[in-house]
Amino acid sequence: MTGFPPIDPPPRVLLGPGPSAVPASVLRALGLPTVGHLDRYFLEIGDQVGALLREVFETKNELTLPISGTGSAGMEAVLANLLEPGDRALIGVHGVFGTRMAEVARRCGAEVVEVTGDWGRALAAEDFRKAAQGRGMKLVCAVHAETSTGVLQPLEPLREVADELGALFVVDAVTSLGGLSVAVDARRLDAVYSGTQKCLSCPPGLAPLTFSPAAAAALARRRTPVQSWYLDLTLVTRYWGSERLYHHTAPINMIYGLHEALRLVHEEGLEARFRRHRLHAAALWAGLEALGLALLVPAAERLPTLTTVRIPEGVDDLKARNLLLDEFGVEIGGGLGPLKGKAWRIGLMGASADRRNVNACLCALRAALAAQRYPAPDPIPAADAVYGAG
Ligand SMILES: *Cc1c(COP(=O)(O)O)cnc(C)c1O
Repeated sequence: MTGFPPIDPPPRVLLGPGPSAVPASVLRALGLPTVGHLDRYFLEIGDQVGALLREVFETKNELTLPISGTGSAGMEAVLANLLEPGDRALIGVHGVFGTRMAEVARRCGAEVVEVTGDWGRALAAEDFRKAAQGRGMKLVCAVHAETSTGVLQPLEPLREVADELGALFVVDAVTSLGGLSVAVDARRLDAVYSGTQKCLSCPPGLAPLTFSPAAAAALARRRTPVQSWYLDLTLVTRYWGSERLYHHTAPINMIYGLHEALRLVHEEGLEARFRRHRLHAAALWAGLEALGLALLVPAAERLPTLTTVRIPEGVDDLKARNLLLDEFGVEIGGGLGPLKGKAWRIGLMGASADRRNVNACLCALRAALAAQRYPAPDPIPAADAVYGAG
């Protein structure tokens, strides 16, 4: 090949841990004419994005905006703004993203108390109480949807723990926002961040974030400036608020894309969207079990948006995933940490949560298993039975 031909990405069925399928109208929005970040037109779009974000977060929080950066920038923004050197943070660590939160909090100078648990199980409120040993905490932090394990963490019991410890409750909602109810106000979550490329079905690049009045007050009470100038919400909010003061150039076209992705969420309606995620997940689980595969997480703690399935003994992880990608164009994820080589991660997030994708994934997996001398029965009837019942 000579020179640099224009980019021409292969069509893919995105069923990994993110990014998820991006609807054509979102891709079109990304390509609309760029205007200035202080243009009247863009400021109006920004306000609408704020309103649409409040809708999907299910909150009235004034401090609700998209951070420039991916989900991890949202995590860093929340922790850098709420933690000062010497503050104590109690953090649930039972997967990659809890581990990352703890690392970011330590880098903010906090004293981190980790609440550890099995990868593949939810944490109990008692685990948090025991780890705290009665010490006061600035923050209690949990991952709502652990994308590395497929665990759904119940939040209500942890809110109670945070109340007992006098702490703000911080939640990672990267793989839940737009796929299952985050309900920021009803659950009294204080600081929540997410990402665009999971259940919101926008390309990666922005991190929706919301702060309760209590979290905003804690930010206002800081004794020290926020260590990160770029993520300092006392500065960022002066652009997103009524002042419209330049801080950094908003990523205009990404915000167009997010606007369209959130508009699609609004049009579908939250309840319908959550129901759709549950339906396709149930069909996928039935099909995987029909293939003779074991799901890692017990049904009561299982995420609809990300399913972890054990790789059968003797089946090579990478060979199987390569066959899926090369012969079916289907992307699924491999395991992380202790699950590397032992589990697959199948995402049904946002626009990817769809019956054709469930069927394609099940058929592709059956072929990949057969190619490694692991013949399995047709999984489609089991999935169909779920759809028939739904
Ligand atoms: C993907 C993910 C992140 C990190 O988001 P990036 O967009 O990769 O920076 C954080 N937390 C959870 C639960 C995630 O799934």
